[in-house]
Amino acid sequence: MKFKRFMMLAALLVSSVAAMVAQEMQMPPIPIDKNVKIGKLDNGLTYYIRKNNWPENVANFYIAQRVGSIQENEDQRGLAHFLEHMAFNGSEHFPDSALLDFTRSIGVDFGRDLNAYTSIDQTVYRICDVPTKRVTALDSCILVLKDWSNGLTLKGEEIEKERGVIHQEWQLGEGPVQRIQQKLFPRLYPGSKYGERLPIGLMSVVDGCNPQVLRDYYHKWYRPDNQAIIIVGDVDVDHCEQVIKDLWKDSKVDPNAAKVIDEPVPDNAEAIFAIEKDKEMQYGQILMCMKQDATKPEEKVGVDYLIQDYCVDLISLMFDMRTQEAAQKPDCPFVYASASYGEYLLSKTKDAFMLVGVPKEGKDLETAAAIYREAQRVKQYGFTPSEFDRAKQEYMSRLEKQFTNRNKITNADYGNQYRDHFLANEPIPSIEERYELMKQLAPMIPLDAVNEILQKQLISNTDSNLVVAFFAPDREGYVLPTEQQMGDAVRAVRSEKIEAYVDNVKNEPLIAPEAMPKAGKIVKETENKELGYKELTLSNGARVIMKKTDYKDDEIQFQAMAKGGKGLYGAADYDNMQLFSTVMETSGLGNFSNTELQKALYGKQANVSMNLDNYYEVLGGHTVPKDIETLLQLIYLNFTNVKKDEEAYKSIMGQIEVVLKNRHLSPETAFSDSAAVTMYNHHPRYAPLTIETLKGVNQDRILQIAKERFSNAGEFVFYFVGNYDEATLRPLIEQYIASLPSKKKATGWKEVPSFVNGKVLNKFYRKMESPKASALEVWHMPVEYTPENEVLADAAAQVLMMVYLKDIREDASAAYSVGVQGSIRRMGLKTEALLLAQCPMDPKKADTALKLLAKGMADNSQRVDDEKVQKVKETMLKTYDEQVKTNGFWMNYIDEYVWTGKNLVKGQREAIESLTPQKIAAFLKKLVASGNHVEVIMLPEENKQ
Ligand SMILES: [Zn+2]
Repeated sequence: MKFKRFMMLAALLVSSVAAMVAQEMQMPPIPIDKNVKIGKLDNGLTYYIRKNNWPENVANFYIAQRVGSIQENEDQRGLAHFLEHMAFNGSEHFPDSALLDFTRSIGVDFGRDLNAYTSIDQTVYRICDVPTKRVTALDSCILVLKDWSNGLTLKGEEIEKERGVIHQEWQLGEGPVQRIQQKLFPRLYPGSKYGERLPIGLMSVVDGCNPQVLRDYYHKWYRPDNQAIIIVGDVDVDHCEQVIKDLWKDSKVDPNAAKVIDEPVPDNAEAIFAIEKDKEMQYGQILMCMKQDATKPEEKVGVDYLIQDYCVDLISLMFDMRTQEAAQKPDCPFVYASASYGEYLLSKTKDAFMLVGVPKEGKDLETAAAIYREAQRVKQYGFTPSEFDRAKQEYMSRLEKQFTNRNKITNADYGNQYRDHFLANEPIPSIEERYELMKQLAPMIPLDAVNEILQKQLISNTDSNLVVAFFAPDREGYVLPTEQQMGDAVRAVRSEKIEAYVDNVKNEPLIAPEAMPKAGKIVKETENKELGYKELTLSNGARVIMKKTDYKDDEIQFQAMAKGGKGLYGAADYDNMQLFSTVMETSGLGNFSNTELQKALYGKQANVSMNLDNYYEVLGGHTVPKDIETLLQLIYLNFTNVKKDEEAYKSIMGQIEVVLKNRHLSPETAFSDSAAVTMYNHHPRYAPLTIETLKGVNQDRILQIAKERFSNAGEFVFYFVGNYDEATLRPLIEQYIASLPSKKKATGWKEVPSFVNGKVLNKFYRKMESPKASALEVWHMPVEYTPENEVLADAAAQVLMMVYLKDIREDASAAYSVGVQGSIRRMGLKTEALLLAQCPMDPKKADTALKLLAKGMADNSQRVDDEKVQKVKETMLKTYDEQVKTNGFWMNYIDEYVWTGKNLVKGQREAIESLTPQKIAAFLKKLVASGNHVEVIMLPEENKQ
């Protein structure tokens, strides 16, 4: 960001702070967290090492490179990304597939924990969640980083094999937005390489490049002076530092080596209006940018930069509040609009104030004008004091949440911070320092200062540096506006007389004093030692389960459940069931309309939402310790005083209509719809959500169903899991939950149809813009819900995934990825084991992929490879140890215990430890023998012969 004028203003504002720190009128510097060791070797290699113990006993390793696709020449487009792939295919100390073998042996999963990304100006590799119990494994991880930095083998045959994988990745990623981007970016970046350097590159280069070109690119750019090593976790900092020094001591940089030069983005005096269309685009999106020079890295060191950041955050918060409210008006041309400030699309050398708008059908020009008008409204009048207050409260509330949670900042969060510090000089004060600074600074920034930035710097009203892009649909009957028309529509706003915004707020408590319920009582209290929770019975019959944890200092998860759910409603309500929770979210509560409620909740971290599952009604939510009473009030109001809000309902239905109207254009949607329909044997209860569904939805009926389901608190179980203060919570429970109305009679549940039985094949062909092929394979069988079966389903899926990745992706190059998931599903009291494999295939090799999918299952139901089981075990033990320290894990299993009496936590770790190849093979064999196998296959029309 760059705010010349603003800097002066900020300097005045902060002068009192500055005076305390320094005598001159200079910005005090932003401190750098003392708990991270930062160093730089003579050859230019930067490193960041931090001891951190959350999550416990694991560490993350990164290498960040200051280079990406922008460094490519025209004949190298795609090589930066190609190279990233080669980092996993052989290096000095980890030849061939030794890297994957090593990481799997320590429970590090390829894809989830071991991965990399290439973007336009950076390439970052990571090994995450490495168990720290073996120091040698940690040293090996640093050795991997070393190999990535300059020890890749780049063998010709491995390069040949990888071409297909990248081609697959490109094919998989080709959607309407990507196709439009490729056409638009050269026009949005005239005179700059940014327009021609999307990282996926050109397939002509990927398919045909000489391996030597790849090696040359590697040696030219991958050098210590362009790299940073980042290590965060339960590690010995000094030891890591020594290992880094030893490993890189011989790496030299040629003094004449190529320099990384920032690619500029020229200003445009004339506005750019660019429209591109695509046949699979389901609805339009307008992007409006007002460009300006980005803040230089060296300008990000003083507290003025933090203030800028703060102002910009507040501005986008306030702007979004306005557009959300505007979208609820029936005559509003857009269904959604939002604003933000940051990098201009891809480029770090240019920033922009960006507006996004999604038009209603036929309202493209009106939407472009409307978002421009909102920007001009702010430019002319600024934001109002009440908007500013809400945004400030929300900002401080979020910051406080981070501060409260300061001892549970994850390795990944720190890793990302240090990466951004290295690549962009983003400040890295400790959270304590940031919190203290902002607490001092924020009250000193008046609304006038924020408005001034907006009016003088961010929002323009001329053609200069204005860029408007329209990602448009292309279908019969739809008339695309011309670029000329869009330009005219936007420019016409400049001569309009725009009125100031009026902020309507309700300044009253959520529950008025006279409406405060008469508190009930806690009448009984028991303890469950095994699962570690307290259970209260209340005077109205409701049960409350409280499990106190400290996994996150700032988190309290909440849930209330009772038997009932969608199963109680028949065909007449199928459509209402589909949109139940969405429609309920548009309601108001008590005296508050939906918009008023949203405004009232700014600055509070508390939310509650209503849901129906097939067998239960559920109220879910979460909060932080300071807002616990607000959460309880929301619970109370959801049970007793939901307020119909017609305006909000119409607005959400309008939004859904835009999204649904052309959803059939997307091949991915066609595939997932077909999969759902097939799995549930075409039962209308599970029909996909389409534009037809909307006709059967009735707001009054949904509100009535909500009333039916949530009127008898006595049949509900309420759960609180997290870091609450019990002495605070108990009286609130008596006040807001024990006081809820209840009836004697409890509801049961009604069985609903489940998955289709037997062998079912649904194979279909489809015309697509970029030919794609997909397969879904599902096997299922009834089983008892036990820790053993749950572990077996998961382990079997992980073993199969390894088999498929090797056979289908690596050896046959017939797919870019294969995902396999195994789980136990409970439906009422019946439980089924479910194994689900999804494979986006190369259309030309679909037959091969399908054969291999079947073969993997058949082979492994006979015999499972022991080495794979050992690796899966390591991964599962590690995942278990992480999961057991989350509130969600306990919420889930306590809930299971409450309804079924089964303690599925007990024995779970033992079940993982006792996994054997024989047990997994036997499980798969039973699954195959059950005969329940669903196959859904989508192929491009070209495959039909
Ligand atoms: Zn890739």
